[in-house]
Amino acid sequence: MKKSIRNIDVAGKRVFVRVDYNVPINNELKIVDDTRIVATLPTIKFLIEHNAKVILCSHLGRPNGQVDNKLSLRPVLARLSNLLEKPISFAEDVTDKSTLEMVNKMNEGDVLMLENIRFYKQEEDNDEAFAKKLAKLADIFVLEAFGTAHRKHASTYGIAKLLPSVVGFLVEDELNRFEKITKNPDKPFVVILGGAKVSDKLPVIENLIDKADTIMLGGGMAYTFIKAIGGSVGMSLVDNSKVAKAKEILDKAKERGVKVILPIDNMVTTQFSAEADAKLYNSGFIPDNAQAMDIGKKTIKQFKKVIKKARTIVWNGPLGVYEYEKFRRGTYKIAKYIRKSKANTIIGGGDSVAAAQQIGVGKHVHLSTGGGASLMLLQGKQLPCVELIEDI
Ligand code: AMP
Repeated sequence: MKKSIRNIDVAGKRVFVRVDYNVPINNELKIVDDTRIVATLPTIKFLIEHNAKVILCSHLGRPNGQVDNKLSLRPVLARLSNLLEKPISFAEDVTDKSTLEMVNKMNEGDVLMLENIRFYKQEEDNDEAFAKKLAKLADIFVLEAFGTAHRKHASTYGIAKLLPSVVGFLVEDELNRFEKITKNPDKPFVVILGGAKVSDKLPVIENLIDKADTIMLGGGMAYTFIKAIGGSVGMSLVDNSKVAKAKEILDKAKERGVKVILPIDNMVTTQFSAEADAKLYNSGFIPDNAQAMDIGKKTIKQFKKVIKKARTIVWNGPLGVYEYEKFRRGTYKIAKYIRKSKANTIIGGGDSVAAAQQIGVGKHVHLSTGGGASLMLLQGKQLPCVELIEDI
């Protein structure tokens, strides 16, 4: 377990908390969904109650190192201030000496927010001098941004190298959940993978092959596997550089008695569009001029049976091109079956989380706040900035 804010004395200390306030904001600069802000409240309240001076740092959107007023954190500041029922001061320019002056004037229990850290190119470059500037503002670093914990940026990795560092409650909870699921899952353990990038998902299968009872594959990535067993996939998404690896994994799974379920039928079209005509084809018989866009009825039924018996489920990646209404049936149905099941479930990855949110989930389902970070943990890798934090 990593050292957390519970394990250190924060009273009177300047505490730099890297949060993930990358929330959806509309054209009128109104926050559409404040889940990510609300999720950080326990950590911020704990720090305030324990008399810390709280400095909040986040990114918002992709300003690419330029100041962009549409991506200012001011709307977030207003919402957080409402939620905490407390004024929060705002530092416009972290590189200006006025910011350090503001920090030095803070009283115990005060909160200050920095402007969007990605307004500075040095952030994503993990620039050392920039990280030092950030570190000068604080005595302690708290990692509370699970969504960016897989990146080596100045306000995540760079600063963690320079200051005594701990995790906040949100990151602690995410790490505990992934630890349990990847090391000691209740059985049967079912892994459901979809999405487009097979290269991301192969290491997940390799890492979980000794733990999982059943691995179910759908989405664009499944066709690399179907090609690997000699099925014709037409124009479906295939990563030719991974076909041999896919075959190797299927053989390994067989050897170990792990069941891998590939789509047996698919919704297929000749044009990649929302209005496309769709037809049902069995796997392996997809015409040369057509591509699979979603899993078919028989596959959905098969997935349903396995989900019903599962006690642990990990799901990452949509099972079809769910952005188009015609091809979202597979993804939505799976989200519904997961909602009905009682299995301890983690859903990771922006698309599968979005689909699950549209369907609604129960208490047994955890929607991870980090797509890239959750994939990395499922691949059995450590998150770079978490690695810098001491174990207890
Ligand atoms: P990933 O980031 O790898 O999880 O991929 C997510 C994307 O996979 C989504 O935008 C889906 O539209 C896409 N996807 C899912 N199924 C398919 C498919 N059968 N063919 C092409 N793209 C797909």
